[in-house]
Amino acid sequence: MHIVHVAAEMAPIAKVGGLGDVVHGLSRALLSQKQAVTVILPKYDCLNLNYVEHLEIVNPTFPITFDGKVRRNAIWKGSVDGVSVIFIEAQEAEEYFDRGGIYGYADDVARFSYFSLAALTYLSSLNVDVLHIHDWHTALLAPLAQQLDLSNRPKVVLTIHNLAYQGICRGEDLLKIGLKATKDKEVNCLKEGILAADHVTTVSPNYAREILTTELGLNLQQTLRTHQHKFSGILNGIDYSTWNPETDPFLPTHFSASHPQKKALVKQELKKRLMLSSDEAPLVCSITRLVTQKGPELIKAALLRTLERGGQFVLLGSVLDEASHAQFYQLKRSLAGSRFVHLELTYNEELSHLVFAGADLFLVPSLFEPCGLTQMIAMRYGAVPLVRETGGLVDTVEQGKNGFSFGPPTAEAIWDSLDHALTVWKDKPAEWQMLVKNGMEENFSWERPAKAYLQLYLKTLKNQPSPFFSSR
Ligand code: ADP
Repeated sequence: MHIVHVAAEMAPIAKVGGLGDVVHGLSRALLSQKQAVTVILPKYDCLNLNYVEHLEIVNPTFPITFDGKVRRNAIWKGSVDGVSVIFIEAQEAEEYFDRGGIYGYADDVARFSYFSLAALTYLSSLNVDVLHIHDWHTALLAPLAQQLDLSNRPKVVLTIHNLAYQGICRGEDLLKIGLKATKDKEVNCLKEGILAADHVTTVSPNYAREILTTELGLNLQQTLRTHQHKFSGILNGIDYSTWNPETDPFLPTHFSASHPQKKALVKQELKKRLMLSSDEAPLVCSITRLVTQKGPELIKAALLRTLERGGQFVLLGSVLDEASHAQFYQLKRSLAGSRFVHLELTYNEELSHLVFAGADLFLVPSLFEPCGLTQMIAMRYGAVPLVRETGGLVDTVEQGKNGFSFGPPTAEAIWDSLDHALTVWKDKPAEWQMLVKNGMEENFSWERPAKAYLQLYLKTLKNQPSPFFSSR
């Protein structure tokens, strides 16, 4: 099969969060399953080209018709960790991808609908069996693909990584790429994708159930229910070569489930680097985008409680909006001078590896969480997760087996859970070691989900219905 992923992110060259990890990890796992895989990305000016091999231009003047005008694009080809990647450089379109970042611009819908049209125009010359599109950014490829001749129309699978981002725009944005719409009417890109795709997945079985409900369906529950026959949840994996405490090049020393002793040395190293006190204390960590979804208030409550209880806290958080910028810089200033806490308010891939490996307890108190990757990475690195019971966190963390969990999104609930975890760490080392070991021995590799996707592609190609909920 030739599977083409079209997406806004791919780790490690263009990553904001989990979407980038998934496109990278799933593509590599499909390659291991002997499939032909191509990824198509915008050629952002902020791509990390250090990880791209054999980069070359294959067509310097590839034309598309956007908003009634012909615009030329340079098509580049390269390889990332063995995966073929096509980059589309928009040369005559408002510097759409020369913004220094990936998202967050007023014209994001125009940028990604331009990219979707260019990707579709390019791949209509290729032999593609399955076109796998991701989130609202590339969802319009589903209705666009319906315009292709039946003879070379691929099957389209849309994965929803986060229902909270839907790409709301006006009909005129669709008209620009040749889709039918009413100029001033509101359009929802993700919904258009759901309606037109051959199959829709989301990134955990539990989130698949949740988004059919009024509580978490964010106005798309009815659309999803109507299309339930072509909707399923497949739990994400993590890339086992990127996230491996036995070989991780970012770690000063290595450890494994059977030889966990050296994790203590990594913890020491992390504390030294962040100038934390060398006192024996539990190290509680969180690595996240600081947005409402991730429960920043709960993170703050847990941080202060950890300090009260004599623990240490490291937060590696990307601040992406003004409110969290103000809140967390204020917190950082108020704690300046403490050798029990470190707030690193930026995105830092290299430091994230050291934090996962040095942490004792790892917090993921999300208000909602489609899958969540950090709890799985934390477990692989011997950090015990403490999570809120929502979405994919429920599919991966089990209280008393490999972690701790709490229900209500309140400070009291996270304090109770945190107090319990810190007591186990201090007074019940054997129980703690059991949690660490069980987490490290979980299998969250991409092998199982890649096989589930492969089965889904095959069924979709044969027009067979797929079961609603895939299991872990
Ligand atoms: P989301 O996609 O909603 O941000 P996920 O848990 O699915 O959440 O994926 C987050 C990914 O981004 C993980 O690989 C995590 O390590 C990484 N990440 C998040 N914030 C940061 C940060 N500030 N620095 C480095 N890596 C981060």
